[in-house]
Amino acid sequence: MFSLGITELNTGYTQNGRFCSLLPFHKTLGTLIEIQVNSTSNKLSYMRILFIFLILGSLQVNAQLPAASCKNINEIAVMEQAAHQRIITGPNTITNITSASNNYDVKYYRCEWEVDPAVRFITGKVTLYFVVTTASNNIQLDLMNALTVDSVKQRNLLLTKQHSNNTLSVDFPAMINAGVLDSIAVFYKGVPPNNGFGSFETTTHAGTPVMWSLSEPYGSRDWWPCKNGLDDKADSIDILVTAPAQYKSAANGLLQSETLVAGGAKKLTYWKHRYPIASYLVCFAVTNFAVFNNSVLLGSTSLPMQTYCYPENLASFQNGTQNTLNAMQLFHSNFGDYPFINEKYGHVQFSWGGGMEHQTATFVVSIDESLCAHELGHQWFGDKVTCASWEDIWLNEGFATFLAAFYMENKYPNNILNARRSVINNITSSPGGSVWVDDTSNVGRIFDGRLSYNKGSYLLYMLRWKLGDAAFFNGLRQYQKDTKIAYGFAKTDDLKRNLEQASGQNLTEFFKDWFKGQGYPSYNVQWTQVGKEYVNIKMNQTTSHASVDFFELPVALKFKNATQEKTIVVDNKTNGETFFKNIGFIADTVLIDPEYWLVTKNNVSAKVPDAAAGQNIVQVFPNPVADHFYIYLRKMVANTATINLYNAAGQRLYTRTASLVNGSEYLEIPAQYLPKGVYFLKINAGDFKFVKKLLK
Ligand SMILES: [Zn+2]
Repeated sequence: MFSLGITELNTGYTQNGRFCSLLPFHKTLGTLIEIQVNSTSNKLSYMRILFIFLILGSLQVNAQLPAASCKNINEIAVMEQAAHQRIITGPNTITNITSASNNYDVKYYRCEWEVDPAVRFITGKVTLYFVVTTASNNIQLDLMNALTVDSVKQRNLLLTKQHSNNTLSVDFPAMINAGVLDSIAVFYKGVPPNNGFGSFETTTHAGTPVMWSLSEPYGSRDWWPCKNGLDDKADSIDILVTAPAQYKSAANGLLQSETLVAGGAKKLTYWKHRYPIASYLVCFAVTNFAVFNNSVLLGSTSLPMQTYCYPENLASFQNGTQNTLNAMQLFHSNFGDYPFINEKYGHVQFSWGGGMEHQTATFVVSIDESLCAHELGHQWFGDKVTCASWEDIWLNEGFATFLAAFYMENKYPNNILNARRSVINNITSSPGGSVWVDDTSNVGRIFDGRLSYNKGSYLLYMLRWKLGDAAFFNGLRQYQKDTKIAYGFAKTDDLKRNLEQASGQNLTEFFKDWFKGQGYPSYNVQWTQVGKEYVNIKMNQTTSHASVDFFELPVALKFKNATQEKTIVVDNKTNGETFFKNIGFIADTVLIDPEYWLVTKNNVSAKVPDAAAGQNIVQVFPNPVADHFYIYLRKMVANTATINLYNAAGQRLYTRTASLVNGSEYLEIPAQYLPKGVYFLKINAGDFKFVKKLLK
């Protein structure tokens, strides 16, 4: 078994396992660090405090001080479901998966792990910096019972601890006041619980051992003590992995050093990450990685891109990485700055059948183009802005799916219609289902490919269509920068607020229908040609699910004949609503939503004759007239109609003769030049005479 000869963690490491002595910044802090801080102080001030600690070599620092995923969407969803299935097997339900106390705010983790990828075992020391938020003499972390906690120390003091119910409870000798920054170090070891597609995996590739982590959503506690929930990001982390010297270790952030230790038998690899990070995005992987570097220009910044892949796949990763660099530039310019621009982006190959968006170090099974675009998209949506609850998982997965599609559409415009149609077909393969996760105890429901991924991505398609590109992309960039959620956690209302601010539109009804509501509309478009240029359109809609009685949407209609076509948009707000539109020609047929911006199914249309009863029908509106008024001539018996407009003094101000098509015409009459007053409109069509008094 893997023990690395470490037998006495309570009194510190002996020889081989002596992590502390290997740390570049290891010092001993002789004085208690008590920094009174307002609990609402911003993260930056804490970051600065940490940096100062890390930099000041003169400080005496004890060991504990300063210091999903995805291919084809349905495959991705199935894989992500499999990865998460473990959390509802066994005694734990998804709702009690974290029991860490909420009386402290995590500031920093220093994770020191010693592993051998050939052996399923971890020896670790995790140093936690935290600010107590309510005066307390106890805090609780998440850590599975399967791991053994050897000791918990605060500076040189051994603390009293209890480890049961997958909770590590730590008592302090005295009360810690609210606002005080303090720290503890947890020394532990053991075999992480094995849950199939687990959070901590060992296997082989081409005969070589490989070890990796994949903690989403609640698997961090399977292998390290932390806050396991979706409510507290550390401001920064350091990760130090000691492994047999023939391997390389990958993790989040920037590589600081690789140092041979234990007489050259082992290698200590130090990764440093100075951005807020959720526990499930903390990662490491160890094997005989081949490593290569690229860079990509983002504005004036040259961002390093670092790849750790299996040597047997080096060529394919080298060939495929440019796609990710292109996607990086596309996302950076459309969705806001790459969130970790002061550090790097990276690919780390693993053998799980998909990808996982570990912050700055995405794990991927292959260099598949859309998989890599999906995981890259998560750096903005999922990592920088993380869903605050499983109800809102679409803020991670719908967005990543949308960003991957956005990249693929940019690169392969000829595939757009087919790709969109197949996604819509998947969404509408069942009449119900909401993007909002209505049952968060069901992992299959949370990671439902049809709803959280595809329908979630289509909420974004429809918002882009409804708001227009400028407001939509501005809104998303604002959402990324929103100080309430940036580098933190977001709910759907946070997205709504930012899109409303950017567009000036009220989106309450949209989110009611499309986020919480279920199903989709089916359109029945009845239209009548009016004269030579106009169409009269009646928009009827049925919905597939009773939770929504009507979907208010702008709908594109493409009118065609053998040689001409024109697409117009009707902003359809009520069922049976009618529209007059000038298409400029006599059409034969209409296509509904020809570019597939909307989730719809079973749409039908029909060109119908005017259904009005009677003959020689004239409608004039509005009255009083505005800058224009309209004359709708229907079922006229004659072939032509003469229109004259007189003022109250009997002077003719306007005249026009219209030839009628099938007895109809729709005329727009200019009226902006008319002074306020009374007017008389006279229409003669054969024997038919019509007079109407108009006001302006
Ligand atoms: Zn994903």
